[in-house]
Amino acid sequence: MADLTRRELIGGAGAAAAAMLVQPDIVHAQPAARAIVFTNTTVVNHDRVQHDVALAVVADAIAAIGSTAQILKQYPNADLYDGRYKALFPGLINCHAHLTATLQRGFNEDFGFPNSMTLPVNPSSLLQGEEAQLMVVVGALEAIRTGTTTFVENAGNIDRYAGALAKTGLRWVFAESIRDSENVPGPLTPDGFAKGVTPTFSQQAREEGMQRISDLFTAWHGKNQGRIRVFPAAALTETSSPELLRAVREFADRHGLGYTIHVNQSIAEYQFMEKFHGLRPAAYLDRHGFLGPRLFAAHARYVDAGEIALLGKTRTIISHQAGMAANRGVNPPIPALREAGCPIALGTDNNTNDVFEVMRIALLMERIRRTDPFPGVRPQPEDILADATDGGAQAVNQQQTIGSLEVGKKADLFVLDTLKPYLQPHGRLVSAVVHGGHPSDIESVMIDGEFVMRHNKVLTMDEGAILRQAAEVSKRIWDKVGPVTIPRLPRP
Ligand SMILES: [Zn+2]
Repeated sequence: MADLTRRELIGGAGAAAAAMLVQPDIVHAQPAARAIVFTNTTVVNHDRVQHDVALAVVADAIAAIGSTAQILKQYPNADLYDGRYKALFPGLINCHAHLTATLQRGFNEDFGFPNSMTLPVNPSSLLQGEEAQLMVVVGALEAIRTGTTTFVENAGNIDRYAGALAKTGLRWVFAESIRDSENVPGPLTPDGFAKGVTPTFSQQAREEGMQRISDLFTAWHGKNQGRIRVFPAAALTETSSPELLRAVREFADRHGLGYTIHVNQSIAEYQFMEKFHGLRPAAYLDRHGFLGPRLFAAHARYVDAGEIALLGKTRTIISHQAGMAANRGVNPPIPALREAGCPIALGTDNNTNDVFEVMRIALLMERIRRTDPFPGVRPQPEDILADATDGGAQAVNQQQTIGSLEVGKKADLFVLDTLKPYLQPHGRLVSAVVHGGHPSDIESVMIDGEFVMRHNKVLTMDEGAILRQAAEVSKRIWDKVGPVTIPRLPRP
């Protein structure tokens, strides 16, 4: 993302916005001891679809999957959810997003990367008070409505809005992103770095960044019955010194956490790294001990064969933002990375928080370039669902507890209505859903055994109030900024 937006977007808002926007007692209620049973339904995992079964949830976990008669006998007092013509999917995991970019929808991804368009005034600078928190809550609302149950927010100074995010009911990873470059402000532009300047790093910035990570970890890690994790993040390869990479990795190792970074997201980035460090971005990370199986690195769009081998050998996880990659005109070599040994996870990046849609784009991005003959092609829709669930669970270092619907795992799931003209009939439900399903087919979302949305009503937020406020803020700010003028094209 254009990371410079993060500071500008976060005003001095306190916790008031969160209190106003979120109905707190629903999330914080103790999980009912009473079971919830989804009856006569379909339970979907990427590698197995079970038809005509029931699934029982007790407290925060999946307690049983079996025949409806048997499960009802086992849980006679259960709260029943009629699962006929419905399918239960593992909740989707968004491994890379920047919620503060919400305000910039309709502007910041249509004019190249980094954005070449300048506006008379930066819209983010016009946010007042609690409106910055409103922007991230809108993004979280979108995530819930599109079937996400775990969300990695990658940003700096997450403490400014962590309280608002916590109350949405989502399972969070707060990836607190730091940098220590003194003279690289953010993602590089194609003409890059001023000639004759040598990149320099600040020990003070590094220490302040590590302190921010530590403070956020102390304040939030393990909160909401373990639903919130705090991971350390280095922002970008071009803004990270070797010392910063080592400090981030060391913090993750010490606390048994995952950690993340943007890598190979632009041509300017790898040219800069080659020029000033003599290494490609992933090779630079390898040189300084940053690669490994608990690193989930975002993008990997311009990795060369040597970097693919390094990423694969170290079992580094790649978070693939397929929609953003398509938007920026480059498809990362996902099959080669997979083949080399990298687990793949999915993310959204800027402006959108809809992993459901990313699944379809990720599939079609591979299909568009495939040359191998049918049959036998990969990925299949099931592979992409695996990336969005199991791969994401690996990335957030929680593969033992989330990422699939199995007895003993956390009850993180969404309920999809299959009675849709584009889903019936179907030979394979997962294929039909990835190719043709809509996020609006999702009628309920459960996280940690609690509904955050049930029968199309979001329970953890006042959706109507949030959207009306967002519309008002949007109108006020964009009216003031003025229209985004698209350069004229010669007409034939
Ligand atoms: Zn990003």
